[in-house]
Amino acid sequence: MPKALFLDRDGVVNVEKNYLHKIDDFELMDGILDVCRFYESQGYVIIIVTNQSGISRGLYTQEDFKHLSDWMVEHFKSLGVTITRIYHCPHHESIDGRCDCRKPEPGMFLDAQKDYDLDMKNSVMIGDNERDIEAAIRAGVGTNILLSRDVILSSANQIIGSLKELL
Ligand SMILES: [Mg+2]
Ligand SMILES: [Zn+2]
Repeated sequence: MPKALFLDRDGVVNVEKNYLHKIDDFELMDGILDVCRFYESQGYVIIIVTNQSGISRGLYTQEDFKHLSDWMVEHFKSLGVTITRIYHCPHHESIDGRCDCRKPEPGMFLDAQKDYDLDMKNSVMIGDNERDIEAAIRAGVGTNILLSRDVILSSANQIIGSLKELL
């Protein structure tokens, strides 16, 4: 069974911008490529799980999201990193009601587990929000890392101020 490196997108893969949906606004987080390369070399498949309520809010479309995602996968590939899959939740509870996929719900992780027969216990999640950690824990992810400079209390196994701390 493969193990996964799960990544939140905004604030982990790319610098958080409000409702990022344009390639021009995409800026890699410091250290993310090396973190991906390291985990890939250790046999992890890289899977992104991202809340994208901007779609539900009408700030951008599914097509905009797909366009950016396709570009991102190609961009990473050109830098030697394979992103196996990007799961996203387009919903927001105030507009669509509750869904199973919006973190802290574990739906995207559970879909990935089914799709790739993942070993969740030996998988890793890196998020920058407690709801990322909560979702991963609920899905059985064994190691959960919170990237945050100001959080003191978290149910994550590890809190880091920079991705470079993982290298
Ligand atoms: Mg985030
Ligand atoms: Zn959803």
